[in-house]
Amino acid sequence: MPRCREVGSPRVVHRTARAGLRVTRAQRRRLVGLLVSAGDVWACVLELNGWRRARQDRPLVSYQELCRELACAGPGTFGELDSAGARSVLRRYSDAWFAAAERRRGGDRRARFPRRRRALMPLRWYHGRFMLAGRRLRIPVACGRPPLLVRLDRDPPYPPEQVRSVTLLYDAGRLWVDITAEVPVASYPARQEPDPAQVAGVDLGIIHPYAVAAPGGEGLLVSGRAIRAEHRMHLADRKARRKAVARRAPKPGQKGSRRWRHYRRRQRLAEARHRRRVRQAQHEAAKNVIAWAVARRTGTLAVGDPRGVLNLDAGRRHNQRTRDWRIGHLITALADKAAAAGISLTLVDERGTSSTCPACRSRIPRPAGRVLACPACQFTGHRDLSAAASIAARLGGGTTPAIPAGVTHRRAGAHLPGVAPSRRDPRRRAHHRGARGSPGRHRPAPASPT
Ligand SMILES: [Zn+2]
Repeated sequence: MPRCREVGSPRVVHRTARAGLRVTRAQRRRLVGLLVSAGDVWACVLELNGWRRARQDRPLVSYQELCRELACAGPGTFGELDSAGARSVLRRYSDAWFAAAERRRGGDRRARFPRRRRALMPLRWYHGRFMLAGRRLRIPVACGRPPLLVRLDRDPPYPPEQVRSVTLLYDAGRLWVDITAEVPVASYPARQEPDPAQVAGVDLGIIHPYAVAAPGGEGLLVSGRAIRAEHRMHLADRKARRKAVARRAPKPGQKGSRRWRHYRRRQRLAEARHRRRVRQAQHEAAKNVIAWAVARRTGTLAVGDPRGVLNLDAGRRHNQRTRDWRIGHLITALADKAAAAGISLTLVDERGTSSTCPACRSRIPRPAGRVLACPACQFTGHRDLSAAASIAARLGGGTTPAIPAGVTHRRAGAHLPGVAPSRRDPRRRAHHRGARGSPGRHRPAPASPT
């Protein structure tokens, strides 16, 4: 629900950052207890509407009606959960119900009303209910209960006066807090603000998550090789894990053992870690693009959207590649950062741009490597940058195709394990231990001549 703002106040965007929690065992138990109570609230609403449906009554879905029902239940119904937290669950139900109704009215028969119970449900508190000072967060609890003060594992990236809400949630075996803030759109000194007439094209790819071509023949290439390596290491690791435990896996219908439960937990942690790594690297890549665009006063980004062709079956290897690409996240990460920087972003159909010469517009067979050479006009250039230039031209960018005048190179995922020698990737085979391609036995350093 957007907040009412005064007319003429500066434009803002809402941004959310996730932080882990440093908690004692007792605090952890209380926090999980709150999430369980939130799941109870959710289950109550589902059950209430189940009865009403059985009686052929109208379902109770508006936020106000649900709140009235909650008030009738009286204090103490949901353990330590305070009423503001319980109402956030009602808000979530109401929003989900109306969103589904809207989609069904639009003819989408697959849209379903909320009907599944959850053991743990996220809880949200708005400004004024919680207290956030530095890393210390006070989570509201029901009247008369001892206060619940927890510590975040990092500093919130927003100043405290901008924070609007906190959301407590449980994901992949850990407790997290999502901090949502109202961030003002960047303002620039006079004649340094982005110019909407300057259009840059963005080509999305796997080797280069973002290839950007700006007017004046400048280009930016963000390398995604580290992200691709992370995907490959994770896939190999997942296969190896599965192979190692396949013999011990419970048969269908058989009760899993404690050991199996522990294995499943480790597996979920590894999956979540992999997802976090890729997300982080993609955010860094998008940040690079926006910083580069701001420095060149580019006010419009034309992004080639390849999602039309992704649903075609292209064999299992290529399908895995397109799933790993996480194209939706690449686009939203860039769009969010562009909005916060005051740059407009438009999606453009990218069909054919990677096989069109940016100089003479003739069709060229897709090159195998990274260099695009036109047989008609002798143009040669980087394949992804040429595609980006063609995308910019589709939005009337008037891009000079003389690439490269100056190409900036950036790497995404410099923090990923195995990229820098200071952080070894435990999934990679060690160089010693008699492995193939081993540099040989480690010998002591030669004695210094002193
Ligand atoms: Zn040509």
